[in-house]
Amino acid sequence: MAERPPADDRVGRMEFMLTLRRRGISNAAVLRAMDEVPREHFVPNAYYDQAYADQALPIACGQTISQPYVVAYMTEQLDVHPQHRVLEVGTGSGYQAAILSRLAREVVTVERYFTLAETARARLETLGMPNVEVLADDGLTGVAERGPYDRILVTAAAEEIPEALVASLAEGGMMILPLGPHGGAQDLVKLRKTTDGVVREDLIGVRFVPLLAGKAREL
Ligand code: SAH
Repeated sequence: MAERPPADDRVGRMEFMLTLRRRGISNAAVLRAMDEVPREHFVPNAYYDQAYADQALPIACGQTISQPYVVAYMTEQLDVHPQHRVLEVGTGSGYQAAILSRLAREVVTVERYFTLAETARARLETLGMPNVEVLADDGLTGVAERGPYDRILVTAAAEEIPEALVASLAEGGMMILPLGPHGGAQDLVKLRKTTDGVVREDLIGVRFVPLLAGKAREL
């Protein structure tokens, strides 16, 4: 079997950026963030050589780090501005939070697995991302009450729109979430909170791990 190039291989990283551009990511700030955050730090050692392939990869606790294209797409759609306070539900590896931290004033990210939250917190600290706060908690309850947030990104699939999160969205705010049956076909949905109510727009088809209520019982 041919050896794969190492994760810090310049050709691999160049292909990674080309793939994002080819697939339609055009926002310069989003592309810069994708270029600057080292994804190899967020994948398990066993997958180190696949860090710059455009695919989701397994992480601890049976969860996944999302596909880079989907991370870039969601971030671009979220239209994050430098003064924004952003909530992410589903820290996982911390990769998406790291991307958001390059674009927002403040990122609060919440993860129901203690182990994942702790690992992500250490990682983000090592990489020098002080505007990210990682919480080990259920993203559907207490954290929502610490709003309002200008932007909310949910990175696990909800079967119904979580009303607590809609409530914690600032007026004029926006939320993006995968919506649909667990393990089935889901749509990425954009919700805008306007003075006339919540406006929904369906984006692309996606597949995410389930959004589950409550803190995880195992670590
Ligand atoms: N954004 C992540 C990918 C996350 S996968 C990354 O960049 O790596 C989705 C994560 O959501 C999983 O780790 C899962 O444990 C978490 N999750 C699911 N339901 C949750 C909830 N109610 N509150 C907080 N985290 C949740």
